[in-house]
Amino acid sequence: MDNEFRILIADDNPSIHEDYSQILNASPFDANAELSELIGISSPPKKQQPTTPTYRLDHAYQGEEAIELVKQSIADECPYALVFMDVRMPPGLDGVDTIARIWAIDPHIEMVICTAFSDYSWEKVIARLGTTNQLMILKKPFDVIEVKQMALSLTSKWQLAHENRGLIAELEEDKRELAEAHLAAEQSSQIKSDFIAIISHELKTPLTAILGYTDLVLNSSAKAGEVALSENNRDSVGRIDINARKLSDLIKDILLVSEIESGSINCSTEIFYPHQVVERIIAGFDNLITKKNLTINNRLLSDENYLNSDRIKFETIVSNLIANAIKFTEDGTITIDSRCDKTHFYISVHDTGIGIPKDKFNIIFEKFRQVDQSLTRGYNGTGIGLAIALRMSQMLGGIIELDSEEGKGSTFTFSVKRNLEK
Ligand code: ADP
Repeated sequence: MDNEFRILIADDNPSIHEDYSQILNASPFDANAELSELIGISSPPKKQQPTTPTYRLDHAYQGEEAIELVKQSIADECPYALVFMDVRMPPGLDGVDTIARIWAIDPHIEMVICTAFSDYSWEKVIARLGTTNQLMILKKPFDVIEVKQMALSLTSKWQLAHENRGLIAELEEDKRELAEAHLAAEQSSQIKSDFIAIISHELKTPLTAILGYTDLVLNSSAKAGEVALSENNRDSVGRIDINARKLSDLIKDILLVSEIESGSINCSTEIFYPHQVVERIIAGFDNLITKKNLTINNRLLSDENYLNSDRIKFETIVSNLIANAIKFTEDGTITIDSRCDKTHFYISVHDTGIGIPKDKFNIIFEKFRQVDQSLTRGYNGTGIGLAIALRMSQMLGGIIELDSEEGKGSTFTFSVKRNLEK
């Protein structure tokens, strides 16, 4: 925006117009110099002053005329910054009514109301125009410096407000664009999730058939007249079977997450003892534990309080956490502990494994996210186990917390409501 401001003078007295023209057409920074002189300080050197504003004055001698000029300024997209408005302008509208009508057209104009009479009290003005910081009063006969300073301050105030409105409009636009981008991202993420769910579903049927046949081949013996499967071929079919089962587990997990997200999974409740669940899970990992030379401590007490919750989901969470603890620990110790308060049961799985960097604490609970996302990472897995565990613990009325230190180990603690029905 350039430094020229439009000012409208509205007064029925032509000689007042001349006064304003003389005062305001002089350099506005003369006002600073005069003011400095008045209060006894030397004026700042010229080069420190901001760019000098100039004023373009328009003149109206009646209220209606002033209103028309303001209308025109809006139509020309060249609004007034400031109006000096006389209170009395017989025979037409008085200044206060004119201001009200002008603000209805352009609410941003700064107003200086000029009066020589006490017939319009400030209270009356406020009652008519409302409390506003865009209105100042100038008593006639007015002082030259006062007019100059008012013009200088009020035009820069108007400019700042104008720039602020621009910035706010830009911010609003940015906000709208961000909201649109967010929505688009959400939609594309939903499309991706739907796509994965559909593909997984489609893979399930042929995979079930493959597993059916590998099972048949591996578990049936050759009938009379048939050639028995060679050791080599049996080994190959065994590998097909193992890998097909891995794929089948992955598909089950993906379908499980999408079912949880779509809200199509409910909780059922039954009474069970967490100690027994943990024992069973550990037994399932026996081979791996021995192979990796791990020590596993189940510190849950056998006479511990029972839970009234969804046993399958509870088991899935614990199983995912223990599986991870085993996977990410070499030759160390895994400890499963518990505590409870009035409402919740807490179970923690602590390992002495590789640990997790702090900046990954949140992302590893997202679907398909891992600390090491590279294809060459040393651990297999799909990054879905913790996503399932998080969502399931929420369904059971609890949360999952993580404490970990790289190279030292990790502790995942999750809570469930002791009585899910309450
Ligand atoms: P997955 O184990 O199949 O990759 P998860 O969702 O179970 O998927 O875990 C996500 C990631 O979180 C893992 O890939 C690993 O980087 C990290 N993580 C989970 N548990 C542990 C643990 N006990 N120790 C170290 N890292 C872990």
